[in-house]
Amino acid sequence: MDVTAYSVERIPFTCTLDCGSRCELVACVSEGALIRIDTPPGRIDTIERPRLVPCARGRAHGRLQTVPERLIQPLRGAGPRGSDQFEAV
Ligand code: SF4
Repeated sequence: MDVTAYSVERIPFTCTLDCGSRCELVACVSEGALIRIDTPPGRIDTIERPRLVPCARGRAHGRLQTVPERLIQPLRGAGPRGSDQFEAV
């Protein structure tokens, strides 16, 4: 396979998971599709500006787009409280 045939755009973003660190990540996108979550190139790690190294949870962001349980529209409760019944808003 000729990997040079693919154009990959690297889009920096910060982790959206709620651990409080906000690590730097890079979305690698080719032809409009996310193909990989990467880490940014290394930079100097100092006391004043420590480098945050993303954990496995952060690097698994790509899977959040494809899991069947992902909510793709807002829902509201449609049955008795605790019944797990919802309807699209
Ligand atoms: S990559 Fe991991 S450590 Fe970094 S902000 Fe996300 S969840 Fe927290």
